[in-house]
Amino acid sequence: MEQFEKLGLCENVLKIISAKKFEKPSEIQEKTIPLILEGKDVIAGSATGSGKTLAFGAGIIKNTEKKTGIRSLILTPTRELAEQVAGVMRELAYHKGLEVVPVYGGVSINNQVKNLAYADIVVATPGRLLDHLNRNSISLAKIKFLVLDEADRMWDMGFKDDVAKIVRACPKDRQTLLFSATISSELADFSEKYMKTPIEISVNNYVDASKLKQVYYDVRDDGKFSLLTHLLKQEKSHLVMIFCNTRRNTDFVAKNLNDNDISAQAIHGGMEQNKRTRVLKGFDNSKVNVLVCTDVAGRGLDISGVSHVYNYDLPADAKDYIHRIGRTARAGAEGIVINILASRDYNNFMNIQKHNQSLVIERVMTPEFKKIFVKFDSPRRPQGRFGNRDRPRRMNFQGKNMKGKRFNRNSKKSRY
Ligand code: AMP
Repeated sequence: MEQFEKLGLCENVLKIISAKKFEKPSEIQEKTIPLILEGKDVIAGSATGSGKTLAFGAGIIKNTEKKTGIRSLILTPTRELAEQVAGVMRELAYHKGLEVVPVYGGVSINNQVKNLAYADIVVATPGRLLDHLNRNSISLAKIKFLVLDEADRMWDMGFKDDVAKIVRACPKDRQTLLFSATISSELADFSEKYMKTPIEISVNNYVDASKLKQVYYDVRDDGKFSLLTHLLKQEKSHLVMIFCNTRRNTDFVAKNLNDNDISAQAIHGGMEQNKRTRVLKGFDNSKVNVLVCTDVAGRGLDISGVSHVYNYDLPADAKDYIHRIGRTARAGAEGIVINILASRDYNNFMNIQKHNQSLVIERVMTPEFKKIFVKFDSPRRPQGRFGNRDRPRRMNFQGKNMKGKRFNRNSKKSRY
């Protein structure tokens, strides 16, 4: 606690930190909290899991007074992250009695309009916030404290112009903090335009390498699902996240795992918000221990106790790989990342290694596994099975020739 006290945190926040039994500040907290409390604009290069929410939260609690209008605004790229950040902010705001209101799309706008009437702190995704601005159901005229959380993701998702509009609706006399895993030239341009002599801080430890093991298996495309099932049944695990690149693959994997006695839930952007929230809650409470997801769930979410991350598909964007693996080996726990590689993943896998040369991903010999039958809901197969573009090359990752079977395009049930 002594180390937290030295950072100049207010009593209200110190009480929460003590209740949470945090022993010492994380690197990003140590480096940014004193600057934030001094009122400086800060650009912090930090990934999820670094403890950044407490870092900007400490500044917000200090700068926000009850019932004086909306003083603090946090922008996040996804609805899930907005909920998560709002949850942390509610804890931090408890002793000061501040009202925290999350605002995001996919749910009723009317409830949000009512809640905004007495909000002190707002956590919002850019699209829905603009809707409120257009309806005059929110005023940003009293904003003193603006946070852009996971700014790189907001830019990737095309929110750049929306964010600029929102920033322009805030008073110039404010403190602005920008948190981002990577700082692109576009973000640098943005900060030059909208921030006051910002101080740049970076911490590079995305994951604790000593606690994280990364491996890959090289299988034929038609062995992916069977190997995944085999490993899930063999490996002793706590919470498991399985990443797919498309909604269709996510549904396919979750459905077939359930058909093979592995209780799994899917989560992706095509699902209604209420369902997404329910699924995440069940996973966080360990009611379901296998979550099959697209990258929506990979960014920002703070789910503790994830022991295994599987990449059923390797992501096309090397940054997404870093975000996915950051779901495990958190807060001192150990974790393993298991990449299930087939020919359709080779290019993405090489790209990930090219962009993250310090990653150590060990090859593991593929064990004997039982081939299982899978079902497809639609005649279309999961991504990458058809069409000349995606037709599996008959090579393994080492370039050795593999004799593969053709698949019967019309059958609804096949070994996979
Ligand atoms: P964040 O990067 O804000 O999503 O935080 C990631 C996780 O680290 C959350 O579960 C926090 O509760 C936890 N955390 C934040 N600060 C500390 C700290 N100083 N010591 C231990 N855990 C922390």
